[in-house]
Amino acid sequence: MKTEGKKLYQLSLHEASSRLQDREISSVELVSSVLDRIEEVDHLIHGFITVDAEGALDQARQADRRLADSGANSPLLGIPMAIKDNICTRGVKTTCASKILGNFIPPYEATVIRRLREQGAVIIGKTNLDEFAMGASTETSHFGCTRNPWDLSRVAGGSSGGSAASVAADAAISSLGSDTGGSIRQPASFCGVVGLKPTYGRVSRFGLVAYASSLDQIGPITKDVTDCALMLEAISGYDPLDSTSVNKPAPVAHKSLINDVRGIKIGLPVEYFQTGVDREVEERVRQAISLLQELGAEVEEVSLPHTEYAVATYYILATAEASSNLARYDGVKYGFREKNFSHLVELYENTRQGGFGSEVKRRIMLGTYALSAGYYDAYYLKAQKVRTLIKRDFEEAFQKVDCLATPTSPIPAFGIGEKIDDPLQMYLLDIYTISANLAGVPAISLPCGFSSQGMPIGLQILAGHFQEDKILQVAYTFEQNTDYHKQRPKITNVPT
Ligand code: GLN
Repeated sequence: MKTEGKKLYQLSLHEASSRLQDREISSVELVSSVLDRIEEVDHLIHGFITVDAEGALDQARQADRRLADSGANSPLLGIPMAIKDNICTRGVKTTCASKILGNFIPPYEATVIRRLREQGAVIIGKTNLDEFAMGASTETSHFGCTRNPWDLSRVAGGSSGGSAASVAADAAISSLGSDTGGSIRQPASFCGVVGLKPTYGRVSRFGLVAYASSLDQIGPITKDVTDCALMLEAISGYDPLDSTSVNKPAPVAHKSLINDVRGIKIGLPVEYFQTGVDREVEERVRQAISLLQELGAEVEEVSLPHTEYAVATYYILATAEASSNLARYDGVKYGFREKNFSHLVELYENTRQGGFGSEVKRRIMLGTYALSAGYYDAYYLKAQKVRTLIKRDFEEAFQKVDCLATPTSPIPAFGIGEKIDDPLQMYLLDIYTISANLAGVPAISLPCGFSSQGMPIGLQILAGHFQEDKILQVAYTFEQNTDYHKQRPKITNVPT
């Protein structure tokens, strides 16, 4: 492996891991290098809400002790990782980028974090997001927006913008995000890194702060597909603490990382290449698909006829679930409490009025409306039925093809402030990512080129339930035959 010329913080997870296992470097050295890098670039990017330097160095020392003991070690041992700040970390603040959880220190660990720690991963900090993961640009964070490392005047995407930007800026070796309607894949595509939303049920959500529980999934954001497979293997599996997690063996990384797509059938959903997609995005994605075809994949057009209803369906169901999930923030048990009140109802009202930002309030109102007695049948119930139709579209498509290939986002990263005042325009940008959540199927975004302005473009690959191995095989083959994943931003143009 050619890693000699690289600074430690520039290593991928698998590169760093092999150097750690060979004792060429220590975890303390690696973690220190990443912490220095955070110091150097995070004031420009603002990927982190919390950096736990002391805790990270402690964990790194422990990892070095484990490395010194002989025996089989996890590839994650000693690797510094950044965690989206809606995943609970015991003893480390978990804010959801909201004022209402601004002082919340979880007394327990999310299952994914417990798994990472058992395997010796080092948690270096918590990353920025749209408040409660509601958004597509990380602009709704109470703690300020994350900037795109490729162009600091643009958004990093969202809601896992901090996780994607940190990995792209080499301020974390890898990270975890959450994806309810695209929040792993879209920021990964905007920042030129790899992001995977696993099948619903593949990864435990115990300890993930709930946004829309029938859609939420946790998944990795990484520098390449190999790292993605290693992270997925590490966090997957049944968890008695999450009744929606499924008892299926985790996909084994080294078995899915096959550089061969001969005979694999890839479907292009015609609805995903119609009006609305940026010309350069479409060109890069079509070029990527041609390359896969040259490498032996069989490509054919398929139809997902209910795609045009996906945005409306998602924004009814997600907001309905959110309005219910966010009812718990009342200022009584934990989190922010408004001091000014004269009776209990006023305590609730003032706390929620002052504690939530405007996008979160909009969604609570929309969701409460859709669930209210007079409108339930017209909105919520109808949306559930359309969800079933969308799911069936995928089932039918996957009878013909193994995978689907689409753009991840219709446009590359846009300017900060450009769309934040027009929620509908922002919601419409989710068009290519939300159907995977509605259907529960896995999907990856990986870099497939750049716009003429130098912004990364993402290729999305989807497969049927629990077929992450197929996705990884196609993604790995593409990556082995291109070098987009090796490009890194210069982080130069200081914002004005
Ligand atoms: N942009 C979508 C939303 O605002 C998706 C967010 C997510 O996946 N958490 O709901």
